[in-house]
Amino acid sequence: MTSLASYAANPAQSRGRKHPESDPQGRNQFQRDKDRIIHSSAFRRLEYKTQVFVNHEGDLFRTRLTHSIEVAQIGRAIARNLSLHEDLVEGIALAHDLGHTPFGHAGQDALNECMHAFGGFEHNLQSLRVVDLLEQRYAEFDGLNLTFELREGILKHCSMNNARLLGDVGERFINKEQPSLEAQLTNLADEIAYNNHDVDDGLRSGLITLEQLEQVTLFADNLQKVRVQYPNLNDRRLIHETVRRMINALVVDLCEQSSRNIVNAGLTKIDDVRQQSMLISFSPEMREQQTELKRFLRTNLYQHYRVNRMSFKAQRIVRDLFGVFMQNVKLMPEEYQQRAGKDPDAIEHARAVADYIAGMTDRYAIREYQRLFTVSDREL
Ligand code: MG
Repeated sequence: MTSLASYAANPAQSRGRKHPESDPQGRNQFQRDKDRIIHSSAFRRLEYKTQVFVNHEGDLFRTRLTHSIEVAQIGRAIARNLSLHEDLVEGIALAHDLGHTPFGHAGQDALNECMHAFGGFEHNLQSLRVVDLLEQRYAEFDGLNLTFELREGILKHCSMNNARLLGDVGERFINKEQPSLEAQLTNLADEIAYNNHDVDDGLRSGLITLEQLEQVTLFADNLQKVRVQYPNLNDRRLIHETVRRMINALVVDLCEQSSRNIVNAGLTKIDDVRQQSMLISFSPEMREQQTELKRFLRTNLYQHYRVNRMSFKAQRIVRDLFGVFMQNVKLMPEEYQQRAGKDPDAIEHARAVADYIAGMTDRYAIREYQRLFTVSDREL
């Protein structure tokens, strides 16, 4: 690692872990966090969870695992450029989607509706719940007992009500403060990653076309540059060359604008970061182009009728599973039955059902649905 800025998150000055532990040997506190995330079972399940496309649609599409690795790659590159802590960024990136339901946003929306009377369901908050509570691997504590800085980075946003319940990581929402620059940049690395891989996956699936994408400034500008330089390129390479230039343009712009912001803010220590507005940002021109791309993807890909059909089915699976487990928690594995407790009206009851469903992979949820609702002589 290159030299660290004075306002970077520093593992030697971490605000610490909930359960005190001896210092790690041969690695810093943020590396320990990252290692724990990689060894968690929620992390392994990311391989079989999707964002836009259902997992079995094809082997070439991104999963939440490959997405998280791409976020880590982009985030580390930005951190290195800005002399921020790469290990913290990598840890936040690898953990940021741990709480996602099966079937991407469709699954999350359905579960949020189901949980309406019980405080709702937010994937962000659920990621924190996974690392704070649901992982059961250590003798002395539930969860992974991660540092404050890593946990703060996972919690990108939350409601005021939840902020009050969360203690230390909730305080910044009440005090209207910013998280570390590492947390801020990982959030934007996430955005760069998904916009670009959704373009790539969208084209590969045939749901969107090159011609349509030429309406989008960021894509069209970079496509044009590739066409001028390589007039005879086939579509596959043309797309990759364009997407990699888009990612590069976004990363370079983000680093340049953020450097200027940091200089102007006159930061000397991490607590200065917390008092400022967001310092990691795109330039206004790039922000506009990024918004245009997002708008395009929303209209043409996320709301494509074939995606809507997948979402429809996914939501039905989540809703039906929720209904059946709420009626009878004894249909869930024992660990979740215990968590649910005896009172069917208690919030913990519904929360245990949500935890069980949120932890499912796409294919596990489909199988669970079949096991519970389809009569077969082969499987119970
Ligand atoms: Mg993400």
